[in-house]
Amino acid sequence: MNILVLNSGSSSLKYQFFRWPNPQPVGSGLVERIGANTDASLTHKVFNSANPAAPPVERRDSLPLPDHETALHEVVRLLTEPPGGIIQNPDEIAVVGHRVVHGGETFAATTFINEEVKAAIRRLFALAPLHNPANLRGIEVAERLFPQARQVAVFDTAFHQTLPEYAFRYALPTALYAEQRIRKYGFHGTSHQYVAAQAAEYLQNSDARLITIHLGNGCSMAAVRAGRSLDTSMGFGPLSGLVMGTRSGDVDPSVLLHLLGPLGYSAGQVSTLLNQESGMLGLSGANDMRDISRALAAGDARAQLAYEIYAYRIRQYIGAYAAVLGGLDAIVFTAGVGENDALVRRLVCREMSFFGLELDEELNEQRESGLRDLSGVGARARVLVIPTNEELAIARQCAELLG
Ligand code: AMP
Repeated sequence: MNILVLNSGSSSLKYQFFRWPNPQPVGSGLVERIGANTDASLTHKVFNSANPAAPPVERRDSLPLPDHETALHEVVRLLTEPPGGIIQNPDEIAVVGHRVVHGGETFAATTFINEEVKAAIRRLFALAPLHNPANLRGIEVAERLFPQARQVAVFDTAFHQTLPEYAFRYALPTALYAEQRIRKYGFHGTSHQYVAAQAAEYLQNSDARLITIHLGNGCSMAAVRAGRSLDTSMGFGPLSGLVMGTRSGDVDPSVLLHLLGPLGYSAGQVSTLLNQESGMLGLSGANDMRDISRALAAGDARAQLAYEIYAYRIRQYIGAYAAVLGGLDAIVFTAGVGENDALVRRLVCREMSFFGLELDEELNEQRESGLRDLSGVGARARVLVIPTNEELAIARQCAELLG
């Protein structure tokens, strides 16, 4: 079965093509700067299915792509045209799996897309103004281009719909929840669910108490027991919780009132500040952990403090989530920083014996792919690194939905 996974952003389109049940993608790509004044850039890769370790055949193009429709047309051309063509005809695609950021309280699971589902995604525009409109655009274009395929939506919020009400409610007047649906939703659900399932399988414990730590450009943690999310650090939007590349994470709301009142910021300026100018960028002057780590090595004090704040916040949430879970079987690091940055893992696991966590410093420094168990001698809870793979998780959920 051919599955195309699409992640449609406001000016970008990411895709992976699977010949299910082969978990290795056959093709993948990224289109950026769709609708910009300059040319869009397109990178398309075709993998060698006989030898997944072989480097993919890659082609890069710069061309004008005014909208998502023309961008997806171009992707179809690359998928179908010789010499690199993977299929002969778009009708060979059986399922298109769409990443949709916000499913609100409507969607607790992956679902086939119909008119009702699209209307619900549209109703949620107010809750995810940057993402849901772009996601819906991707769905509508795919419906036109692949009329034979089943369209499936996989929601970033769905995994966290199992949070109990005492965890997802804010202590605000009840009417704001009842009438405006203001509550914690949580994000990165596909990633937390995927690595939690891998960890439970590795531990051979279907009831495992896990803390999953997704550290990418955006960062979030989840408390997961028996495959169910019990709490998570992002909330109504993706700003709360951990320190991120450019997003603040937890800030006392009084600071925002101070900015909006005495300091004269507009709502738009506060939004820009919290989303684009804060986090590691605000603290250290750079948002990419590789740059901050180089600055740290060169003795930059701001970089050192930024690392400490970043790790301290994660440690606080480990304490909180161990309490939520009533114990701990493993913590799981994932995504760009979690998988690659040994220093972050070392700072997080420092003096965590109380929680049963012991890090093997040597294993921590080694660069290896796949699931890694970095637990040291005497550990009562494991320290795992598990590469996340949201596209594969989406393809798998599509296949499961089709039965
Ligand atoms: P993601 O959102 O999972 O793609 O993660 C992107 C982030 O991962 C980048 O902004 C980097 O800060 C970080 N990252 C990627 N590779 C490395 C690395 N080798 N060492 C440290 N951080 C990395």
